[in-house]
Amino acid sequence: MTLNNLEDLFVEQLRDLYSAETQILVALPEMAEAATSDELRKAFESHLKETRSQKKRLEKIFETLGEDPEGETCEGMKGLLEEGSEMLEKDGDRNVIDAGIIAAAQRVEHYEISGYGTARAYAERLGHDDAVGLLDESLDEESAANEKLTKIAESTVNPKATGAAARA
Ligand code: FE
Ligand code: ZN
Ligand code: FE
Repeated sequence: MTLNNLEDLFVEQLRDLYSAETQILVALPEMAEAATSDELRKAFESHLKETRSQKKRLEKIFETLGEDPEGETCEGMKGLLEEGSEMLEKDGDRNVIDAGIIAAAQRVEHYEISGYGTARAYAERLGHDDAVGLLDESLDEESAANEKLTKIAESTVNPKATGAAARA
């Protein structure tokens, strides 16, 4: 698409986010299934529900703008999820693999936080107030998901993974 103004770039960035969320909807159930920690599995399952809402919020914004959500592939997310799925297939101690899955998932959340932050700033600049509110909600969920993963890693998974290394 031709980018002649910030509005065009806003739509392009939203399509990139839409592609990212669509890919994440496929990956999250696989990550949940691969997680050994109950807490981690539940975190992925609850973020899957949030991700469905996030995709719907984007659809709502596209509807308001009268634009098509399709048309972009988020290559960045594709790469991040490929790395995540490599981690799911690794052999080794389950606690260490869990720590590795968290590492991959947090890269995904940070990438999304960056994308939503930019889109939100454009929406604000362009006076798309409804979009600002919707993007804000998703941005808050991504931040909370990231923080939850930090908490799970630091309180349970990393300590267990450390123990695994000591036993080897
Ligand atoms: Fe998301
Ligand atoms: Zn992207
Ligand atoms: Fe997310």
